[in-house]
Amino acid sequence: MTVNETNGYKRVLLKISGEALLGELDYGIDPKVSSRIAREVAEVVGAGVQIGVVIGGGNIFRGKGLAASGIDRITGDHMGMLATVMNALGLQDALERAGVTTRVMSAISVREVCEDYIRRRAVRHLQKGRAVIFAAGTGNPFFTTDTAASLRAIEIGADLMIKATKVDGIYTDDPVKNADATRYDRITYDEVIERKLEVMDTNAIVLCRDQSMPIRIVNLSRAGELGRVIRGEHVGTLVS
Ligand code: UDP
Repeated sequence: MTVNETNGYKRVLLKISGEALLGELDYGIDPKVSSRIAREVAEVVGAGVQIGVVIGGGNIFRGKGLAASGIDRITGDHMGMLATVMNALGLQDALERAGVTTRVMSAISVREVCEDYIRRRAVRHLQKGRAVIFAAGTGNPFFTTDTAASLRAIEIGADLMIKATKVDGIYTDDPVKNADATRYDRITYDEVIERKLEVMDTNAIVLCRDQSMPIRIVNLSRAGELGRVIRGEHVGTLVS
């Protein structure tokens, strides 16, 4: 991809769930997946687009799941946030092997292994062409990394938030269960909320709506998808 092909996107925020890192594994990070994501990010960075990544933790721990097994919810959420730090380090390693200088910034201090999140410093890293992985969600229990993605996208002044899911966009119904389900090319924030289309949690959608942050929902397991988004191709679903 060349700079001229970036459709005016200068800075984007990519949300990757922990589950997306599983690939064919039941637990942890599939190196094939992290390497492929890293190559796609490297292509985008090579074209001059600044990229921030918010990574989830669902492949390791989720506070809700831990609470169901008897662990205190807030402790569980802390464990979930720390799980995202591990994923961030794994992705950082893959990105650096793909030639992308990368910084991990955590909303919870883990100073021996990564930087603290400081907005101005994050923007400076991006301006220098470094990828920045935002770890530990918002740093607070009862939130999700989707909300963290909305928050960071707005804070760093991203042109677009890209949410990677297992499905190639938002459908009228679950496309796995209902063969008649059709994909929306475009939908409004309020329609996503009113029709209870479970694509992101409501906090995350509302934050983007109130700050006019467009979201594109795509399937990152399709090779080359990130590049297609950056070139402005109409893949997935645009929430705006
Ligand atoms: N979490 C949290 N606050 C945040 C973000 C995440 O407490 O701001 C915890 C929460 O327990 C969540 C876990 O970290 O279940 C992992 O994040 P998430 O479920 O969003 O990961 P994903 O579904 O994207 O893999």
